[in-house]
Amino acid sequence: VKFKKRPVIIEAEQWMGIFSPEMDWVAKCPTTKESFFPEKDLCKHCTLSKTIHGWIETLEGGHIVCPFDWIITGIKGEKYPCKPDIFHATYERID
Ligand SMILES: [Zn+2]
Repeated sequence: VKFKKRPVIIEAEQWMGIFSPEMDWVAKCPTTKESFFPEKDLCKHCTLSKTIHGWIETLEGGHIVCPFDWIITGIKGEKYPCKPDIFHATYERID
C-alpha cells in the first residue's frame, strides 16, 4: 500500500550562530559535549569552532545546533534543528 505524506506547514528560523533574545531557545553549547568536537575543538558536522555552536532542547533531549542550521517549530510547538541541505530539500517557503 502506498501513502503520500500530507503537506504540513511548519515555522522555521535559521540560526546564524548569534545568541539573541528572539531565538532564546538556542542556548550556549555545553562545553562538556566533547564528543561533538573530537579534533581541535572543531565540529564533526560543520567543521566550525565549537565556540559558535548552540544547544537546543528537543522532545528527544538536548541537541547541538550548528551555525546556519534551521530551527523548526513542529505542529505541537516542539523545536528541533535541521541541517540546511535537508531543510531545503524538504521544505519550500510560502508567504
Ligand atoms: Zn557544527
